[in-house]
Amino acid sequence: MSATAGPLAVASGEPGPMVRLIGISKSFGGVTVLDGVDLSVAAGTVTCVVGPSGSGKSTLLRCVNRLERPDSGAILVDGRPVGLERRGDRVVEASPRVLARHRTSVGMVFQALNLFPHLTVLQNIVESPVAVQRVRRDEARARARELLDRVGLAHKERAYPRELSGGEQQRVAIARALAVRPKVMLFDEPTSALDPELIGEVLTVVRDLAAGGMTMLIVTHELRFAAEVADEIVFMDQGRIVEQGPPAAMLGRPRHERTARFFATIQ
Ligand code: ADP
Ligand code: MG
Repeated sequence: MSATAGPLAVASGEPGPMVRLIGISKSFGGVTVLDGVDLSVAAGTVTCVVGPSGSGKSTLLRCVNRLERPDSGAILVDGRPVGLERRGDRVVEASPRVLARHRTSVGMVFQALNLFPHLTVLQNIVESPVAVQRVRRDEARARARELLDRVGLAHKERAYPRELSGGEQQRVAIARALAVRPKVMLFDEPTSALDPELIGEVLTVVRDLAAGGMTMLIVTHELRFAAEVADEIVFMDQGRIVEQGPPAAMLGRPRHERTARFFATIQ
């Protein structure tokens, strides 16, 4: 294969990766947090990102839906640059309206439980499709009920977040993220704020999404779960991808000493 096969394949109209990060760098106050990260996630696949605290995992995810703006590099979701728009012959920062639309292609579930506390479960899920996508409220409600059924919480639609367990709140958060029909789902340690007995119910939902072919980028410390659902495991340290590969290779025989040492600390 020639060295240019990749770019040419894209140019010829073949589908490229669903998410593509090209040379992403980001500093905070002179400290480099992401240092030229390149990463592709193929459509319908799951990539799990692991690495020590402070290695830049959350910042990386936040760049994908433009909660952080990279200092350099580009991010494409389904071939389209996130957070940028063309104005005449210039490429400029996207307007809030365009950015809101871009974000509907990327669903995100955070570590902290962050449902709207003053809205019911159903209202939490209906909010975005109605406000951002102008979906009719009755249609959004019907879809929200389907999603609640899928995460096993059909009976909780009238509850308020404070009346739910942490695991239930995260399952509602997943339903809320799915409500805008995103092309890719991002998870930032979705189980790390949960009591151990509640972790399983959230991972089950993520597992079902993977089985349904959802493209996902998941930051997690649950190595056994990552080994099971991931097509690719990415190990990050100090703002860089140290190595990546299929679970068996990464967990079985990591090439780098740093990777092996990290796996040893959390297994
Ligand atoms: P991880 O998720 O791997 O633990 P993060 O992406 O949260 O890592 O953070 C990487 C580094 O960037 C940390 O040192 C963190 O303190 C720093 N950082 C993250 N966000 C900000 C911010 N908004 N302002 C300043 N520093 C930040
Ligand atoms: Mg983090």
